[in-house]
Amino acid sequence: MHKMTLAQISQGLAKKSFSSLELTQHYLARIHKLDKTFNSFITVTEEKALAQAKKADLQRANNQAGPLTGVPIAHKDLFCTQGVKTSCGSKMLDNFIAPYSATLVLQMEAAGMVMLGKVNMDEFAMGSSNENSFYGPVRNPWDNQRVPGGSSGGSAAVIAARLAPASTGTDTGGSIRQPAALCGITGLKPTYGRVSRYGMVAFASSLDQAGPFAQSAQDCALLLQAMAGFDAKDSTSVNIAVPDYAAQLNQPLTGKTIGIPKEYFEQGLDKAVESRVQAAIEIFKKCGAQIKEVSLPSSPLSIGVYYVVASAECSSNLSRFDGVRYGHRCDNPRDLEDLYKRSRSEGFGDEVKRRIMVGTHVLSTGYYDAYYLKAQKVRKLICEDFKRVFTEVDFLLGPTTPTPAFKIGEKSSDPVSMYLSDIYTIATNLAGLPGMSIPAGFVDGLPVGIQLTGKHFDESTLLNAAHLYQQETDWHQQIPASCKE
Ligand code: GLN
Repeated sequence: MHKMTLAQISQGLAKKSFSSLELTQHYLARIHKLDKTFNSFITVTEEKALAQAKKADLQRANNQAGPLTGVPIAHKDLFCTQGVKTSCGSKMLDNFIAPYSATLVLQMEAAGMVMLGKVNMDEFAMGSSNENSFYGPVRNPWDNQRVPGGSSGGSAAVIAARLAPASTGTDTGGSIRQPAALCGITGLKPTYGRVSRYGMVAFASSLDQAGPFAQSAQDCALLLQAMAGFDAKDSTSVNIAVPDYAAQLNQPLTGKTIGIPKEYFEQGLDKAVESRVQAAIEIFKKCGAQIKEVSLPSSPLSIGVYYVVASAECSSNLSRFDGVRYGHRCDNPRDLEDLYKRSRSEGFGDEVKRRIMVGTHVLSTGYYDAYYLKAQKVRKLICEDFKRVFTEVDFLLGPTTPTPAFKIGEKSSDPVSMYLSDIYTIATNLAGLPGMSIPAGFVDGLPVGIQLTGKHFDESTLLNAAHLYQQETDWHQQIPASCKE
């Protein structure tokens, strides 16, 4: 059963070829068998899953089922789940049982989905390798000596290892697209404001966006359908109509123009990865699209801008973790200051502390203009680059990451080289645009992804293009050898 895509599972459930309970038991058994190696789950909610599966079967028997009813899903451990630990990959929240559920979690429940558990991630979603988790690194199912990418490493690994047919993640600077690429699966970062952020633990509020992971674009379309839409509880949620994503998957690409940003092919891109991107371009041509080289001259500045803006926002968001209301509290505080200091120094890991320090610095009097204000100005230039190219092309295509998955430990002592693994993904977040990563082949047995970037709220065009590409290729159907059976 685990070899099926979400869309196939949905059909199987509709035809009553199997029940949600059988399906859920099958995935739980796989998790127990395989996840000792990958470490992708922080919490497995077995009882809840079995109860939800029985309920879904009942709904199906009463003809009350939708396309996602009874389909299992795993949530990144930064979505609040009522009554279930929500750790955000941090010691700070290791004891936190969420008192309410995130809007996205409620939407998935309302669609009848079955929650298998909460998956591992870099602490507070800061990282590109999942090595910053309090619960230990996640291992890439394609090579367990390598990272799955981050910060949604668990969300990507569970799909690659076929421990779940669907998962959720968040993308602040690449954390859906980069792990999707390194694990050989499909991941979609929607437009900022498309999917509610209510009940997501905040990292950098002007950049964070939730989205789906699955095997295929068709699966992501089904998931996005249930996630997208206005939420009055999120002040940045945008109230515009949600199209029927699945209905638009098969539109021909004739008449569409794909922009290839030339900056993405300059220094730093692995030659073998580049040749996978070139091969993908040929397939899009075959599907009828026109190809046009474009320029995003400010995009090389995006990493610098991001680490000012994201750190500034995180230093403010994470100030709430003070040992007083919830989360980790140190033993026997001497006074209030000691309580704050020790709770925070014990509760946060090194990378989170580094970001808080950078963020506090760039926001401080005397440095604000030089760093924060300057970064916001460059952010505007990055947005304008995209605005200009989108008058000429329908969407952009390039590599998702400069290299395939790297070894665990390889970059952990060099934060800057780690930060560079998001060089192609970060600008999309700074501009609030939708982006997708889809599997585009292998280099030395490791998956490689290509990235599609679209106009605001035009997820349909990306899903459509990705779906057509996946009709011409079978990269997204490949399963790591150790996870086939
Ligand atoms: N890797 C980037 C960072 O460390 C992006 C993380 C993310 O998208 N959550 O901040």
